[in-house]
Amino acid sequence: MTTDITSGTNIFTNKVALVAGGSRGIGAAVVRRLARDGATVAFTYASSPKPAQELAESIVAAGGRALAIQADSADAAAVQAAVAETVKAFGGLDILVNNAGILLRGTVDEFSQEDFDRMLAVNVRPVFVAAKAAVPHMKEGGRIITIGSVVANRTAFPGASVYGMTKSAVAGLVRGLALDLAPRGITVNNVQPGPTATDMTPADGPHVDMIKALVPLGRLGKDDEIAGMVAYLASPEAGFVTGASLSIDGGYLA
Ligand code: NDP
Repeated sequence: MTTDITSGTNIFTNKVALVAGGSRGIGAAVVRRLARDGATVAFTYASSPKPAQELAESIVAAGGRALAIQADSADAAAVQAAVAETVKAFGGLDILVNNAGILLRGTVDEFSQEDFDRMLAVNVRPVFVAAKAAVPHMKEGGRIITIGSVVANRTAFPGASVYGMTKSAVAGLVRGLALDLAPRGITVNNVQPGPTATDMTPADGPHVDMIKALVPLGRLGKDDEIAGMVAYLASPEAGFVTGASLSIDGGYLA
């Protein structure tokens, strides 16, 4: 497999990015897009070494620079080590994308406390941990981008209360981080996808018709479409956007 990194722009030349959760789905699309537009990209994964290595190798084979790092986002020390490894390998860090996330479903009567804690440990805490570790390495113009969800604003069906809570938490955290880091010229934003075709929301899954019915455009989003919004927020053009939660959802929240 070769990732085409020749057809993009060069807007991220000399920029180093770290994508947490970049082995599959939206995160992998973000890795490909940033690399295509000239960035050197490190990315983490938890349990998918094969697709992670293949993605890194495909970028390197096409002349880019990429590094796959095994780091469970629930492990704060591993997240900090991934930031340190990125800086050591590539000499700095300009763009941090917090994409890693899980979706455990269940109504309140059946959802366990262990799963509640796991959701916070993967979807929320590492956003704070990674930002705290990354900021000392970031210069003016640095970018922190999280992948939240439209479920922060509209739950739409039972069994997603804890997932929605984690994505609301991320939106709130982003607003505060944006204020903390504005004096340093670092922007912090949150991308909220609607239902997007990945392993998390399979295009051939049993509930896909019900999900599409919630989307006025009548389809699932594509991972590359979400990556496009991330690339915009990472770009110099988005220098006046901070503290925002931007939805890309086919009209789900309209
Ligand atoms: P996928 O399940 O397809 O991919 C998840 C990615 O996150 C994988 O690269 C996975 O790595 C990584 N990951 C998961 N858990 C961990 C962990 N503990 N530590 C490190 N990496 C981890 O999900 P999507 O691409 O669909 O979702 C990406 C983000 O987008 C998530 O935050 C999700 O909540 C959000 N989102 C998704 C929507 C959708 O409909 N798909 C809609 C709205 C938001 P590994 O391969 O090792 O498991």
